[in-house]
Amino acid sequence: MKVLIDNGHGENTPGKRSPDGRLREWAYSREIADMVVTGLRKRGIDAERIVKEDTDVSLPERCKRANAIYKESGKKAILVSIHCNAAGSGVEWMNARGWSVFVSNNASNNSKKLADCLAQVAECIPIHVRKQSVGRSYWEQNLAICRDTNCPAILTENFFQDNKEDVEYLLSREGKDTVARIHIDGIIKYLAL
Ligand SMILES: [Zn+2]
Repeated sequence: MKVLIDNGHGENTPGKRSPDGRLREWAYSREIADMVVTGLRKRGIDAERIVKEDTDVSLPERCKRANAIYKESGKKAILVSIHCNAAGSGVEWMNARGWSVFVSNNASNNSKKLADCLAQVAECIPIHVRKQSVGRSYWEQNLAICRDTNCPAILTENFFQDNKEDVEYLLSREGKDTVARIHIDGIIKYLAL
């Protein structure tokens, strides 16, 4: 099984940062993506980033890359897209906090199982997992990176880049290690199913 990691956004994407500018989503998601790829490879799992550029790569292009690898691998690939959430426009600090995982409205059962695996790891740490409805660990949304990719695909929103406490946590050693661990352990859990 090949694990495809998508790091959202590029250095030229407008917005997508903390109000104080200390956290920039494109850079943060790349740092976590590298930790996840390294962590998975250490455990013998084939993993790679589908966006190696620092600039923004369009969603259709990212989906095309993922679908090409999925096809090449004989339909043995999964995709995880890494992001940080935002409650406002990035100008001011907001109140929303926590971690969440998304699938697309057209998600397969395997996408939902993958989302469940990451959420279970997060809840065991424990960190606050935001839920769209009671009793379900993932959110359903019309997301191109999950909707237009053929493999099981999920998107994680790793805390809020416009919440002061979340940004402190995200930028801390503990926060980075925890965010990476949710992905590594969650993916391993899924692959063991
Ligand atoms: Zn994002």
